[in-house]
Amino acid sequence: MDGKKLEFKGEEALRELERLTTNARELQEAILRDIISRNKETEYLRKYMMGAEDISKFKSMVPIVTYEHVQPYIERISNGEDSSIISGHPIVEMLRSSGTTRGKPRLMPSIAEDLDRRTYMYNLLMPIMSKYMPGLDKGKVMHLLFIKAETILPYGMPARSVLTSYYKSDHFRCREPDPFNNLTSPNEVILCPDSRQSMYCQLLSGLIHRHSVLRLGAVFASALLRSITFLEQNWRELANDIRLGQLNSSITDQACRAAMSHMLVSPNLTIADEIESICNKASWRGILVHLWPKVKCIEAVLTGTMAQYIPMLEFYSGGGIPLVCTMYASSESYFGVNLNPLCHPNDVSYTLLPNMAYLEFIELDHGLRCGNEEEVQKEKVIGLVDVKVGKYYEIVVTTFAGLYRYRVGDVLQVTGFYNNAPQFKFICRRNVILSIDLDKTNEEDLHKSITVAKEILEKQNYLLTEYTSYADSSSVPGHYVLFWEIKLMSEKLESGKAQSLVHPELIEGCCIAIEESLDYVYRRCRTNDRSVGPLEIRLLEYGTFEALMDLLISQGSSINQYKTPRCVEPGPALDLLNSKVMGSFFSPKDPTWNAGL
Ligand code: AMP
Repeated sequence: MDGKKLEFKGEEALRELERLTTNARELQEAILRDIISRNKETEYLRKYMMGAEDISKFKSMVPIVTYEHVQPYIERISNGEDSSIISGHPIVEMLRSSGTTRGKPRLMPSIAEDLDRRTYMYNLLMPIMSKYMPGLDKGKVMHLLFIKAETILPYGMPARSVLTSYYKSDHFRCREPDPFNNLTSPNEVILCPDSRQSMYCQLLSGLIHRHSVLRLGAVFASALLRSITFLEQNWRELANDIRLGQLNSSITDQACRAAMSHMLVSPNLTIADEIESICNKASWRGILVHLWPKVKCIEAVLTGTMAQYIPMLEFYSGGGIPLVCTMYASSESYFGVNLNPLCHPNDVSYTLLPNMAYLEFIELDHGLRCGNEEEVQKEKVIGLVDVKVGKYYEIVVTTFAGLYRYRVGDVLQVTGFYNNAPQFKFICRRNVILSIDLDKTNEEDLHKSITVAKEILEKQNYLLTEYTSYADSSSVPGHYVLFWEIKLMSEKLESGKAQSLVHPELIEGCCIAIEESLDYVYRRCRTNDRSVGPLEIRLLEYGTFEALMDLLISQGSSINQYKTPRCVEPGPALDLLNSKVMGSFFSPKDPTWNAGL
């Protein structure tokens, strides 16, 4: 990072952003020179650059790689070899990303100063928000933040999620008091490894401070919605604790109990009554603003696959306050910020900061087609400032910690420039998730087709709350299976009635609409080749996706970074889904297909 300054207040931060975005090209070159100079003696760079330091050699000699290529180095370090094989600075921890390779989590190397980079980016967020929403320093922030228990690798190095690493670090725990980030949740509660107890206490803290909360949110929208569901199930107990001034005995974590005892000093009948009367209402539309009346915005990642949660958060927020997506980050590196926080989540673009890592972009030919296995042509790889508006790219990162020209797996589209720094819309993960024959459907294809079906459902007052998919090849021909959880929109969102009331024609109509919006090859396989069978929608019992989340968390996913898998493989997750099916519906006709198209 150029310079060591991490903290910026108001105008100073905005000036810093101007500097970064104006000098994007120079900063990117400087960062690459710095990375090469610090890491040139590593086994990895020596292998490709033989000690050379020039940028042109880096670009011509160092290959663009996926995790498979990096994995042997990560495994050697995990097994006790010196981290100098890939990094000039000691690797202090491995960050467990939500991506997997052959069923195993990916581990990303991280060095001590990476925490400074993360802090630096976090510190830019509030000045950007304050530009559009004054007065955010006059109250509290209810951010629901969770850690996940870490594992220790054979030779003692911790492997944990990037957010766990951050919340456990001094950068977070020993942060200076900041009126813009005055969290309702005490550190002890955020750091509680039991996610249920943590969630209970965080909601309790938020409810106690309900009249001073100005911002509320979580890192990803999925965790926020999960917390709202938890609130639906536990508001009576929470209100009761406030009424009695005593923490529920189900909270056994001693650090949580001690921290909460400072907040529950005496019975508070007024707040308890208010919460009960709000939560008892027939509809939970707008519950967030009813419970937290001063809230000015709701923050969570709602871009990419999280976009499906926008209608639910609009429902719970009542639609009158902005849903804000502040940043785009990953375990490999933090990337960028949203300079226009009040824009609708569908329109969010992230401005990538040029001083986090060295960034390159692989141009994708037709929209998003770019498989894992595909050889990357050198001329298709360009630098941050050379990307073109409207084009799709896959992002490639080089970090100080030992990732060189590493394909993150995210597909982005350039929407414009802020000064000289490009702005990107997050499109999807680069992955084909469904394939039976020659058809290849990726996350975005699936998401787009489901969006069409969602509109049909919404016209009939149903909300699709969650979905995943499965390529079922157990019969011939195989077919796509979608697992859906739906709710009736008009009533309190807790009933499981929707699944049993729905008309078969409605879901069959959705099957047709989805097939019609899947791509040409899919429709050819279905209608002409007959190599793919009719698409099936299986409606699930209410709460199945909660159970899926619990299952996957018990297998190592973290709550903060949890994302519903958009596709499942045979195994416990699929078994769970299949055990909760309440109805199954097939597409009743072939999709249209025209050989000429
Ligand atoms: P992880 O590897 O678990 O740290 O997760 C990082 C990944 O989450 C990124 O590579 C993206 O695929 C996704 N992600 C992070 N931030 C955003 C965002 N603002 N919008 C959409 N997806 C995001």
